This record gives sequence, C-alpha cells and structure tokens, in this order.
Amino acid sequence: MALHEHDDRALFLVVAAGRGARAGAGGPKQYRELAGRQVLTRTLEALLGAEPEAHALVVIHRDDLEFYNTAIAPLPEILRARLHAPAFGGETRQDSVCNGLEALAAAGATAAAPVLIHDAARPFVGIDLIRRALDVAQKNGAGVPGVSVTDTIKQTAEDGRIVATPDRAALRAVQTPQAFRFELILGAHRAARDDGRRDLTDDAAVAEWAGHCVFVFAGEAANIKLTTQEDFLQAEKKFVDGKMLNDLPDVRTGQGFDVHAFGEGDHVWLGGVKVAHERGLVGHSDADVLLHAITDAVLGAIASGDIGAHFPPSDPQWRGASSDLFLRHAVELVSARGGKVAHVDATLICEKPKVGPHRDAIRARIAEVMQLPLDRVAVKATTSEHLGFTGRGEGIAALAMATVRLP
Ligand code: MG
Repeated sequence: MALHEHDDRALFLVVAAGRGARAGAGGPKQYRELAGRQVLTRTLEALLGAEPEAHALVVIHRDDLEFYNTAIAPLPEILRARLHAPAFGGETRQDSVCNGLEALAAAGATAAAPVLIHDAARPFVGIDLIRRALDVAQKNGAGVPGVSVTDTIKQTAEDGRIVATPDRAALRAVQTPQAFRFELILGAHRAARDDGRRDLTDDAAVAEWAGHCVFVFAGEAANIKLTTQEDFLQAEKKFVDGKMLNDLPDVRTGQGFDVHAFGEGDHVWLGGVKVAHERGLVGHSDADVLLHAITDAVLGAIASGDIGAHFPPSDPQWRGASSDLFLRHAVELVSARGGKVAHVDATLICEKPKVGPHRDAIRARIAEVMQLPLDRVAVKATTSEHLGFTGRGEGIAALAMATVRLP
C-alpha cells in the first residue's frame, strides 16, 4: 500500500518486535490473549478506531509473521485496509523503530505527517490521549506522554547506596504513543544509526540526542504496558466476557421480585439447580422463583417490560419450561444493545429448604447462564422469622438486583 503524494494523514508505527521474556512462558506478550483477543489486535483496534483516516505499520520479529497474521485477522476489513505490510525489527528497539520509519518513508510518508510510535503491549491507549499526541506532533514537532511519579525515586550506586534523591515534582514516567513530525524523527533515527548509536531506549531519547526539543504532555494512568504475568492477570479483570466495562459508561440498576406457592412435589428449582424438598413449587414453568426475580431485574435495568410480557403464562409453549431460557433471553437483550450485565445480587426468602448447602452450585449455575465470572454473582438467603406467608411455609419469595452497563 502506498500513501498518496502530499498526504499528511496521521501514521501509527506499532513496535511489536520484542520477545517479552518478562511475561513468562506463552510466546511474545503482544500476541498473548487478553480476554479472548490478542494484545496486538486490541492495540491496533484502539489506534485505528480512534483516527478514521490514519494508516498503521507494525514492526514485527522475523519469526512472528504467522502470529502477526493471526492477530490482524479478527480486525474489521475497514481497519485492516489501513494497515501497511509489516516491517521486520532489528536487534534493539531503536533498530526496529528505524526500520519501521524507513518502511513508512518508502511507502511515501510525507515530511509533515504526524507519526505516533506506540508499544504493541499498551492496548489501553485511549482516544483522548491519541488526539493529544497528534496535536503535539503537529504543533511542537516532538512530544511524549508522561504521568506524575507518586513514589519517591532514588538514584543508587552499584552497591545499593543512595547517591541522589531527585525532586519528584519534576519527574515524569514516560509512556507511548510518542509523537513526532515524520521528517524530524526519521532524520534523528538516521543520524543516530549513521553515528553508531543503537542503545537509545525510546524515541524521545533519539530526538533529544539529535538536538530536538521534546515536550511532555499528559499521559493516562490506564495506559499501562503489559510486561509481567501479574500485569496480564490485573488487565484481565477489566474485562467481563470479552467486554471492557469502562467502555460501557451508562450504568443501570434493575430490581426483580417473585413469589411461588408450595404445592405437590419432591423438589424445587432454585437458580437453575434442582433441590430435593418435601414439596414442590407451583407455577406455569419450572417455577424457579430465583431465576424469575433475576430475569425481571435484568429486564428492569434496560426498561424492557417484565418476564410476563416476554413469556406470557397464557402461552402453552412455556409450560414446564426451564427458566434459564427466560434469563438467557433477558441477557441477550442486553447484548443486543451492546451492553453487558456487570453484577447480580439475589436473596431467597424461605424457612425451608435450607439454601446454604446449595448456594455455591446455584451461584455457579447463574454465572454460567449469564456468562459472568463467579465473583459477579451473589446469592443470599434468609428466613422471615416465621412471619408472613414465607414464615408459615406457604411459599418462597426471591428478590434480585442487577447492574447493567450500556454504551
Ligand atoms: Mg415466577
């Protein structure tokens, strides 16, 4: 793919040539899965999705072509169309970036185009940060995102002795994307290469070495670089079922309540689990009072009527139906709106059967039906101290709250 002449559209140069030894076994970290998608896929999605006209080029290790092809395959065609063929990295990060810049130059990148050089292992780069970086590249020619340092930093000698305590207020921890006017950073890299310098650890250092003034602009705390196994474990927690909850800012809460009376039978269904009991619950479906309350809570959170409206008791097709079908439908309605159930909390009210021994199985079943991690499903139980219809053992009541997040 060649850029058009005099085409000053933004460029992303993504550095993915590292081996990522610190993240433990499992291959280079930029190709590891994070919540069901490779890190590089997520990074490219974030960059290309933020700037509709921008092109991107990824610098990869010579052995990683297959990994790379797997990573770009899930990208929508509209994003993939803006990717150049990858360039191969060199021995150091500096070499790799230099190769990538040369590949962009060969593709016709113009002198004035803003280029953002970004670590493949920073998939949480936000749209506002990308916009700030492009702005700085155009206005100042060279800038890097930085965040204030909260720990006191000590400079030490080889034996561990402290030799200096720099003023924390003047220190910044620097991230990527680092932002440059294309001709400035290409010229600086070429000069460093021709001078035999190959050990400069970031592109700001290359620009500084070449005598350019580099500015620090506001970075983002969330824009972490995935480095260790622990980073991956922490990052996974930002996702629920492949979706990042932070991308769903519209937080809704719904409530549900249901009651079923005891009748003939030798078991009850509670939260999708069959619990042996001297009586059954009367109902049109399987009378799973807990799943009905949760279903209503989810429907309530998206203001989509109630369980009776979606599954009329008068409709014979729901006779004896397994209630997980109702709950699954409510969860699908949330998905159809691009949302995600984030949490469910439910309470069963009855004297008998005892819920405690079945609680873990019930939570696990609800989590499975709703495709939620177990720590986002709470099930509690109480008696009503022999008061009222539940206290007299005439039936079971259930209350539920669901938190739903929508785009
Ligand atoms: Mg019911």
